[in-house]
Amino acid sequence: MLLPAPIQDLINAFSRLPGIGPKTASRLTFYMLRTSDDLPEELARALSTLKSGTTDCQRCFNITTAGRTLCEVCANPDRDQSLICIVEEPLDVLALERTEGFPGVYHVLQGALSPIEGIGPEDLKIRQLLQRVQQGEVSEVILATNPSMEGDATAMYLRQQLLPMGVRVTRLARGLPVGGDLEYADQNTLLRALAGRQEMG
Ligand SMILES: [Zn+2]
Repeated sequence: MLLPAPIQDLINAFSRLPGIGPKTASRLTFYMLRTSDDLPEELARALSTLKSGTTDCQRCFNITTAGRTLCEVCANPDRDQSLICIVEEPLDVLALERTEGFPGVYHVLQGALSPIEGIGPEDLKIRQLLQRVQQGEVSEVILATNPSMEGDATAMYLRQQLLPMGVRVTRLARGLPVGGDLEYADQNTLLRALAGRQEMG
């Protein structure tokens, strides 16, 4: 082995991150090795508490601080509990919250349906969503899954499940970059997509 194991191990680990190739992994590793500031220690600390310090919101499955039952949004009494926006990931919640134009609450599916990757309804927080709609006084569900093949398939599936429950089902207006993620859309585009949401009934 050309490189000492601790170096090779970190290169291997970095290489497994999305969007990081072997060259970038090597460059990052040597940066960590040579840097004089305390970034490596800080990073190690942050990584070691990343999972233990966080948990899923028990109502919407957004991410929240460990030990809490509800996330910031669900715990806020001023939010409209009858309006639920369905998103794929917590980062989508963040993007919509940045617009400061959504008065309702969320439900985070933690992914999208993908037959190719073998992700079915039971792999997402869909059962929990249907329970929530059944139990609560929900008047409208906004499907805000990504404008991708998987996101559209997920929206169609949820429409089928939700319409018989007598709830209003809408989909974010087109105009979001196709194939892109919600989290990359700018605030004005998101606000327009929310305001122009269309009936799926
Ligand atoms: Zn929540």
